[in-house]
Amino acid sequence: MKHLPFSEWIVSDEPLTEAQATELAHHLAGCPQCGRQQQAWAEVQLLLTRSTAAVAPAGFSARFVGRLAARRRVRHQRQIWVTFGAILAGSVALAIALLYAGAAGLAEGAGQLVKQLVVLRAALASVVDVIGHGVRVLPPGGVTLWRYSLLVALTGLGVATYLGLGGLWAAAVYRFASRQSRMGDTQ
Ligand SMILES: [Zn+2]
Repeated sequence: MKHLPFSEWIVSDEPLTEAQATELAHHLAGCPQCGRQQQAWAEVQLLLTRSTAAVAPAGFSARFVGRLAARRRVRHQRQIWVTFGAILAGSVALAIALLYAGAAGLAEGAGQLVKQLVVLRAALASVVDVIGHGVRVLPPGGVTLWRYSLLVALTGLGVATYLGLGGLWAAAVYRFASRQSRMGDTQ
C-alpha cells in the first residue's frame, strides 16, 4: 500500500484542501499504519499545546516577585551596613582627633594657626629684609605643627564623611520621592 502523500499530509503544517482531506480520510479508513501515525501525531500536538500552556507553572510569578523582593532586601541591608560602617569610621576619626588634640590641643591648634598667620605676615613684611640679610625664616611649630596637621586631617575626614553621608541620604530621599511621584503618575 502506498502511504505517500498521506503520511506527509498527517504531519503537514499546511491546511489540506477539501479534496486532500477527503482523500486522506478515505486512505485512513483502510490503512491502520497511517491511522496509528495520525493518532500519535495528534497526541504529540496535544502535549505541545499543554506544555506551552504550562510554561509559567502555578505560583511562578508569586515566587519570582518574592525572590526579587528578597534580593532587594539583601541589597538594602548591605546599604545599611555600608552606611553604618561609614558613620562608624567617621566617628572614630573624629573621636581620635578630639582625643588626640583634647580641648587644650584645639586651643593650641588655634593659637598655632594665629601664630602661623603672624609669622607669615612678618615673613612677608620682612621679605626684603630676609633677602637683604640672608636670614632664613624657619617654619613655625616643628612637632606641634605636625600634630596640628594630623588633627586637621582627621577632623576633615570625619566632617567629610558626615557631609558625604548627608549627600547620599539626600539623594536616596530624592530618588524615593521621584519614584513615588512616577508611580503616582502611572496609576
Ligand atoms: Zn497508509
